[in-house]
Order: sequence, then structure tokens, then C-alpha cells
Amino acid sequence: PALYRQRHQFVIDFVKRNKPRKVVDLGCGECSLLKWLRFHREIEHLVGVDVNGTRVKKNMLGLAPLSAEYLQPSYHQLCVELYQGSVTQKDARLRGFDLVTSIELIEHLTLADVQRFSEVVFGYMTPVAVIVSTPNFEFNPLLPGLISRFRHSDHKFEWTRAEFRSWAQKVCLDFGYEVELTGVGQAPSGQQERVGFCSQIGVFHRLGAKDGSNVLFADDADDVSSYTLLYSVNY
Ligand code: SAM
Repeated sequence: PALYRQRHQFVIDFVKRNKPRKVVDLGCGECSLLKWLRFHREIEHLVGVDVNGTRVKKNMLGLAPLSAEYLQPSYHQLCVELYQGSVTQKDARLRGFDLVTSIELIEHLTLADVQRFSEVVFGYMTPVAVIVSTPNFEFNPLLPGLISRFRHSDHKFEWTRAEFRSWAQKVCLDFGYEVELTGVGQAPSGQQERVGFCSQIGVFHRLGAKDGSNVLFADDADDVSSYTLLYSVNY
């Protein structure tokens, strides 16, 4: 399957195993991951955020309930919300989730904004788990037809495995998480060890989040709302 499908399948497999109830996809773009996730019955609250409101608006109607779901209501309670906003800014409505996903997003940020992203996601939103994917620079020589240094002209950086690991380990130290590093997109046989996966993925778990569900304490929830609600639907 195409690489973007493999990244989304990685998230779906995680959701099947860990059964998060509240999930946010940061940099949701065309909302394609959200469209898959809405079929997972454990999820009660599904949120997408992207800085590009136009891109979200073009695709968000695909998240409306199907007419069959109106005719035959299920016991599945689901609330879907989409916001225009930047991952470098805090919004209290995104605190206390079980899972935050950030698929091919951080490489579009400057390094100063990656630091803000880390503080917002791990320090402020404090989800139980976070999945971050980003290109693996070491894999680039294996990509056919890649003539520039990076895979996309909007990428501000592409990290080697060591660079990604050092960012991930610092996040863990700063904010109290542990991380498992993996990826999707295998190299041809014999080269996997040397170059790693095409997309590298970090799966973070908050230390001390024992039962897998999140608890928010009212007194530390400062009430900022910097995102704009674009769409909201209750199934
Ligand atoms: N996650 C989607 C996927 O896997 O198909 C889309 C990935 S696309 C390469 C990167 C997305 O990140 C774009 O939709 C872009 O608008 C969004 N983005 C870039 N900077 C952002 C920011 N500061 N805050 C939120 N979203 C951002």
C-alpha cells in the first residue's frame, strides 16, 4: 500500500489495541485519517486541527454521518470537531485527550516552532499517548526521482534517525514521557538496518498514566481558546 496509507494504518492499529476514547489529529489536512478513525467505536470524541482552514473546509463534509446512520441510529456516541489553529498555540479544549497524532507535520515547522509544538503537545495538552511521524532523511537516497535535498519544498528539515531520537528523548525528559521508535515503509532487503524506515514514527506514553484514560484537574486548566471551530457534529 501507499506510504500515507501505511502511516494511517499504523495509527488505526494503535487505536484497535489501546482503545482511546478521545483522539486529536494535528495537521489533519484533508481529514483522511479522521474519516477512517470515525468508524472505531471506542472513540467518543474525535478532533482535527489544521492551520490551513481552507483545506479542512474543502474536505470536512466527508465526516458527516451517512444517511444510513440517521435512519438506523447506533449506540455509538461520537462527537467530531474540526478547528483551524496552529500547533504552536495552546487551546484548553484540546487538553486531556487519550491520543494525539501528528502525521508528517513537524517537518513543516521551523525548529523554534518544533520547540513550541513540544511544549504545547507534551507540556500543555498532556495526552496519555502521542504518535509523531516524520520523514527519515537517511532513506532519501533510496527514493526514485528525488532531485532536491528534501522530499517536499515546504519541509524545513528532514531528520536522520539519530536526530529524531535525540528530539524524542529530550521531550521525554522534559515532559515525563517514554518513547518507542519505529516506522513504516521498509527498505529493500539487506538495506533496512543501514537506512531505517522511509517514515520514522515515535510512539510516546505519558509516565504514570496507568489506566490509559486521562484525568484533568480543574485548577490547572487555564482557559485559553486560540483555535476557531470550523465544524462540529454529533452522531
Ligand atoms: N496529517 C496529514 C496526512 O498525514 O495526510 C497531512 C500532512 S500534510 C504533509 C501537513 C499538514 O500540516 C498540512 O495540512 C498543513 O496545513 C498542516 N500544518 C502545517 N503547519 C501547521 C501548524 N503550525 N499547525 C497546524 N497544522 C499545520
